[in-house]
Amino acid sequence: MPVFSLDPAQTAWCAELRALGAERLRPLAEKGAPGHVDRPLVAALGELGLIGRLFGAGALDLCLMRESLAQTCTEAETALALQGLGAHPVAAFGTAGQRARWLPEVTEGRAVAAFALSEPDAGSDAAALALEAVPDGEGWLLAGEKRWISNAPEADFYTVFARTTPGAGARGVTAFLVPADRPGLTGSPLDMLSPHPIGSLLFDGVPVGPADVLGEVDRGFRVAMTTLNLFRPSVGAFAVGMAQAALEATLAHTAGRAAFGGVLKDLQAVSHRVAEMATRTEAARLLVYAAAAAYDAGATDVPKRAAMAKLLATETAQYVVDAAVQLHGARALQRGHLLEHLYREVRAPRIYEGATEVQRTVIAKELYAS
Ligand SMILES: Cc1cc2nc3c(=O)[nH]c(=O)nc-3n(C[C@H](O)[C@H](O)[C@H](O)COP(=O)(O)OP(=O)(O)OC[C@H]3O[C@@H](n4cnc5c(N)ncnc54)[C@H](O)[C@@H]3O)c2cc1C
Repeated sequence: MPVFSLDPAQTAWCAELRALGAERLRPLAEKGAPGHVDRPLVAALGELGLIGRLFGAGALDLCLMRESLAQTCTEAETALALQGLGAHPVAAFGTAGQRARWLPEVTEGRAVAAFALSEPDAGSDAAALALEAVPDGEGWLLAGEKRWISNAPEADFYTVFARTTPGAGARGVTAFLVPADRPGLTGSPLDMLSPHPIGSLLFDGVPVGPADVLGEVDRGFRVAMTTLNLFRPSVGAFAVGMAQAALEATLAHTAGRAAFGGVLKDLQAVSHRVAEMATRTEAARLLVYAAAAAYDAGATDVPKRAAMAKLLATETAQYVVDAAVQLHGARALQRGHLLEHLYREVRAPRIYEGATEVQRTVIAKELYAS
């Protein structure tokens, strides 16, 4: 691969993904109910082979899919990413039985996955999680709450991180594969700013056994961190896709909008702002590609690069989308406008999968360790 650009096959694939997003997936997303899992959309992602491509493909492929789909259909982008986040622990750490039970259905878009780490009192400090796994015969009973879980409570199964050893911090957490129909498991949706399906889960003595463990007992934090390390640069890719969509809308708008005897782009304040939006978007894109390529090459500095890419890209997308709203004026804030949608979508990625401040902590730790 050329160091600073994609090869022609990758560029063509991205164009194909953008077209699929616009022509095949956007009409499905428009029929979906905001805040709920859109099963026809997930099924279409399966049929197109995109979910299958999540498993075993590298971080760069994941980033290209997320960036390209985000440009034309953020709902499809998010549905795809969530299948990956929820099911990657099964693909990477599951037993042959767990993989055979769930991965074909996930890949075909028939089973919906979710990743349940956060709790009301454990977000950034995930090692403080308190959902208890109380020993019960050969297995455990899960008791507690998970909150802000994407795809909850409508997913078909959850990768749930629970405390098997009290007081042991990150070393006392186990990952369990919990099917949604287990007794004692209930949930409710949360109404958020973005259309993202998300909710909380209540565990009232949910039985799990040794066959439900993902990886090893008390080693669940490794399952969580391995998954997040892969997905972190791809959150940046999602952000870059949104920034690119906002930039393109702004180029079109400012080239045509009559103002002061010319068009908006004739005003240097406007064209320079657009130049800044494009420059920052390209810088973020390159950092995302570099982080993904480092992951795929098994480089040692992946944590630092992934954190830098996620941090810069999500903050850049916020800047670019906000600038795009400004340059569009009132119409951007009208319900249903592309930018009104992106303005709601762009905010959360600066908080989830490690808030911006947490990424800075990771980067600083890596810098001082080397
Ligand atoms: C749309 C959306 C989808 C989500 N999906 C999922 C999901 O599928 N699964 C899941 O498990 N979780 C999910 N989450 C939860 C997400 O992971 C948490 O919101 C995130 O980890 C932050 O935790 P918190 O919200 O409790 O904020 P807190 O941890 O309370 O942090 C609040 C703020 O404090 C500051 N802060 C925190 N720690 C530090 C630090 N070390 N240094 C400096 N400043 C700091 C930051 O500004 C941070 O934003 C989702 C969240 C959102 C918004």
